[in-house]
Formats: sequence, structure tokens, C-alpha cells
Amino acid sequence: MSNSKRLRIAVQKSGRLSDDSIALLKAIGIKLNIRDRLLIAHSTNEPIDLLRVRDDDIPGLVMDGVVDLGFIGENELEEKSLERKAAGKPFEYETLRRLDYGGCRLSIAVPNEMDYDGVQSLDGKEVATTYPYLLERYFEEQGINAKAVMLTGSVEVAPRAGVADAICDLVSTGATLEANGLVEKEEIFRSKAVLIKRVGGDMSDEKQALINRMMPRVDGVLLAKE
Ligand code: ATP
Ligand code: ZN
Repeated sequence: MSNSKRLRIAVQKSGRLSDDSIALLKAIGIKLNIRDRLLIAHSTNEPIDLLRVRDDDIPGLVMDGVVDLGFIGENELEEKSLERKAAGKPFEYETLRRLDYGGCRLSIAVPNEMDYDGVQSLDGKEVATTYPYLLERYFEEQGINAKAVMLTGSVEVAPRAGVADAICDLVSTGATLEANGLVEKEEIFRSKAVLIKRVGGDMSDEKQALINRMMPRVDGVLLAKE
């Protein structure tokens, strides 16, 4: 549990969410001294410690109460929540704000040459993805009898490599799909970055007061950018 007196915030160490998350913290007046190789960064003007980790670890850190807040993409958050629920682990959190960055969509794409005539064309097929729980949920909702094949990377080469018939991956421009001879067919999840808070365990009055001071400033920054 996060029983430290300082508020612990998890951010992606290096990736698509890192710069915007750090920029938001700075924009709300939190001074940070970030040294590239270090896991922890201390704020110099607020009782706040940043934990810099892989984005995949952030939902679990919040749900296990190891950190108080986390910046994470909804795609990763929802996937981990479903995975943890299935495994009987804590999977709850509170969304404090939906943010204005990290926008992307999770889509099913198929090889150019595949005869595709709606989702039912995926019946009996194998679909490679890093998000098996989100994909299986979509198949269930659609009544499709297809299989999600879990790959942690290079999902877009799976059909050419003969590992799967189609893929389900994050898309923002579609350039990666095109470069791999794939066409986007079904959008199954729309995502943005969110700021989440743990729900398990007690939150000290001091920490809650700090969060209460931070949130109107976050709203101010989001509004100013609109
Ligand atoms: P890590 O090393 O932290 O595990 P990663 O490779 O899993 O990094 P990134 O590629 O940095 O993660 O993406 C982090 C998040 O950024 C995604 O989960 C998603 O929410 C968001 N995102 C926004 N646009 C895109 C995109 N075009 N492709 C992938 N992710 C995107
Ligand atoms: Zn990741």
C-alpha cells in the first residue's frame, strides 16, 4: 500500500505518454527534477514522488495501491482491468480526468487480399493482438467465434509471418498498417490518456488535500488548451 507521506504518481518512463504527462504536471506548478535513468523523481516544491515505469505496469500499481495516482492510456487500463478481474486480483480505480492527449484507436485490420465482408468474415480466424481481453470481449459482443492470439510486439507482421489471419492493434494514422499490407476494418476501442486514482486503502487527509488542490489546476490547463 502507498503509506508514504508523499503522494506517489506513476508515469510512463519513456514512450508516447511520457512528455505530455510530465508537461501537465509541470503546467500545474509541480517542479520536477527528472534524471533520465532513475525510477523515482522527487518534486522540489510539493510532497510528490514520480514513479517512472513501463505503461503496462501502471494499472496494476494503482489497483494494488502501490501508487496513489497514475497517467495511463484507457486501452491499457481497460485491458489490465479485465485481465486482473479474470485472475481474481483487485481491478478497481477511479478516473479523475480524461486528458487531451494519447488519442488512438484499437482496430482490427486484415491483409489487403483477404475477402472481408464484415466481422463475420473473422469467424474461425486467429487474430494477433497485445490486447486479448479487449478483443475477446469484442468477439463475444459480436457473436464471433474467433481467437485472439497474444503477441507482445510486432503484431503487424503476424499475418505475413503466418502467425495469424488478421491483427488487432493501436492505430493513429494508419501508416504502419499500410506499410504492412493491412487494411483497417473495425474500430473496437477508442482511447485517450486518463489520470486515475487508487480506491483501495486509506488516503491520508494531507494527500487528499493535495489532490484536491491539483485537480482545479488540471481543469484550468485543459480548458486553456481547448
Ligand atoms: P512501454 O515501454 O512503456 O511499455 P509501449 O511501447 O507499450 O511503452 P507506447 O508506444 O509509448 O507504449 O504507447 C503508450 C500508449 O500511448 C498506448 O498504450 C496508447 O494509449 C497511446 N498511443 C497513442 N497513439 C498511439 C499510437 N499511434 N500507437 C500506439 N500507442 C499510442
Ligand atoms: Zn507498454
